[in-house]
Amino acid sequence: MGRLRDQNSRVGSCTWCLFEAHTEANVGRGATVRFRGYTQAVSQHFVKRNAGKSLKVGARALKKTHRHFVSAGSVMQAMYRMLHLGTPHKITQKQFDEAALQTGCKGLTAFAALPYVDLSCLFTVSTGHALLFGVVSDFVDYTLRSLKDIKPADPDAKLVMSREARQRFAARGQFLVMTSDFGRRYKCIMQYRKSYRMEDWLHFVETFSSYIFKGDVLPEALRALCWSLCSTVTHYFWPRPPDETREQFLVAAKAAACKLRAYTTRLEELEVPDYMFTVNLHICICRLYDQECQLGSAAGFSDLPVERMMQQMKTQGGRMVSQAPEKHYTQWLCLMRASESLTEADPATGAKHTTNQQLERMLARRAVNTEAAWFDKPGANGYLLG
Ligand SMILES: [Zn+2]
Repeated sequence: MGRLRDQNSRVGSCTWCLFEAHTEANVGRGATVRFRGYTQAVSQHFVKRNAGKSLKVGARALKKTHRHFVSAGSVMQAMYRMLHLGTPHKITQKQFDEAALQTGCKGLTAFAALPYVDLSCLFTVSTGHALLFGVVSDFVDYTLRSLKDIKPADPDAKLVMSREARQRFAARGQFLVMTSDFGRRYKCIMQYRKSYRMEDWLHFVETFSSYIFKGDVLPEALRALCWSLCSTVTHYFWPRPPDETREQFLVAAKAAACKLRAYTTRLEELEVPDYMFTVNLHICICRLYDQECQLGSAAGFSDLPVERMMQQMKTQGGRMVSQAPEKHYTQWLCLMRASESLTEADPATGAKHTTNQQLERMLARRAVNTEAAWFDKPGANGYLLG
């Protein structure tokens, strides 16, 4: 498994390209990797063919192809043998590590043996995590950062929501009432965003933001950015129209990719702090467009269905003591599916209907009789609308 992941990644780098990010020391200890290179090229060091060059994210020299993965993986496979078996020459751990840094992997993944696999798109971007939990949540956190931390001399001191705007923001939340078929209701984004699930974020972007962020609550420089981000995220989560042609889809994919790129460029121009240039933002820009060209709409690879299925599995088997929870879950699922398709002959017509069809027919038979004794007569107090 380790090698499977290592195939595509390099220390401090993106899984899908050779771009070298820079590390920044944290307050306290450790360091975090930050990805820039949207408006200004960043100098590259580790990879021989790019060493000494300055490149921007998405440059052709940074792209990895299937052949790239296979050749780099095979080189490392051979080095691994030299390190542990000494054939044909013995090498040291340090030499191995240096080569790993060069090639971006530590060996060849087993998937390379499958003739139909294209290693450059073996892993898809998990848009739920990268866009919703990453880019969108970072943006909201940034506009709502604590007013106490802001010094007037900061270059981005104006890019924060004012106290007055925050009050209006919170007040608007009070008016949001959703119908019961909507799903998760609105939870105040200022107070509860730390407990937001993927679906909450998606609902916020698709629906609530248009009211909550309406008008002038956001700092002026961030307003256009916010709407462009919302429309990009919507592109990556909504299924495409069924009658769309490939050409039309590619135009939409390009437009979304350009919008996301413009969003990031604008962030750099506005001199927002380094912590906004995360790996999440990078992988969305570096990879999503190519992925959509290779595999089709990113909405088809969303992590939402998997997450939802996991929740169902947890509710079903979470409190059970079991040696094989997955077997219990599968049995339960099969039982549920089977009971949904049970059929029984209708006594009146003899037609066979599944449980769900029977239920539908029963509900369709429902008729309201406003003449019944428990309804008030028209004009009386508390006339009940049936
Ligand atoms: Zn990348």
